[in-house]
Amino acid sequence: MERYSQQVRDEIMRNELSSCQRCIKAELSAILHISGSIQLAGKEKLGLSVVTESAGVARRVIKLIKSSYNIESVTRVEQVERLGKHNRYNVVIPPQNGLNEMIYDLGMMTRERLIDTSIRPELVKEKCCRASYLRGAFLAGGSITDPHKKTYHLELVTHNEEFAAGLVYLMSLVNIKAKLAKRKEQYLVYLKDSEAIGKFLSTINAYQGVIKLEEVKVVKELRAEVNRLVNCETANLEKTLSAAWKQVAIINRLKELNLFNNLSDSLKITAELRLEYPEVSLKELGELHSPPISKSAVNHRLRLIVEFSKKYFDEAGN
Ligand SMILES: [Zn+2]
Repeated sequence: MERYSQQVRDEIMRNELSSCQRCIKAELSAILHISGSIQLAGKEKLGLSVVTESAGVARRVIKLIKSSYNIESVTRVEQVERLGKHNRYNVVIPPQNGLNEMIYDLGMMTRERLIDTSIRPELVKEKCCRASYLRGAFLAGGSITDPHKKTYHLELVTHNEEFAAGLVYLMSLVNIKAKLAKRKEQYLVYLKDSEAIGKFLSTINAYQGVIKLEEVKVVKELRAEVNRLVNCETANLEKTLSAAWKQVAIINRLKELNLFNNLSDSLKITAELRLEYPEVSLKELGELHSPPISKSAVNHRLRLIVEFSKKYFDEAGN
């Protein structure tokens, strides 16, 4: 996982649990919907396990459960082989009194024992609880690319389409416009716009993450602006200068070949001024005439000079 992603995750997990009981349930519900699975252990008994590659998330799950329910769990550390060895944490909650209630309460399953992939409305009534739900979703399935990279990207990954659509809706309730996409067997709720990402991070209380994002964004924008200005000015300057120096060369050549006097009086005036002020723009050159003439008039006269010279230079083999 990327460093920035990990920093954001660590930051949220350092935060104390919310003092709102429903917030705790909302965060837990989101994590369980993404990383949890229900086991049917006999007719009445349900078990639950939560698998995560983050020790912090495993600890967070236990803390959230403990603060709302009187439920026991055991955590198993497993080693997985995926791009090198990784630890995987499996929070196992065996069948016990109160677990079925917790599962219904968190909207994992209906009382008719149907798996529930929607977001239980009771858990996200308040603004604080919506934010907590999104925080849980980020902890379990979220990642964010380093803001230094070319494009901004934040995503929440889940295996269930209905749940993903629910997250998009939940985000719209806090004024964040997310998009939904399918990647292999997974559903992605994602944000591509740095402002929306900043809003999401502040919603889930990842303020350090927001500061970092803003800092990098300012530097990036400043750099882009400087580059744009430099490129733009250099290009314009080169264009003006190269055209002007070409005119100067042509006028000098006309003089060398004694053709200068063949120009009309008005062209001569403009030509002399160009020789005297090779670095000024056409507009400024026009203002140097007396009376002043327009930029397009200057342009017209210089074009006539160039055309006139072509006739002779070509004949003279120059
Ligand atoms: Zn709340």
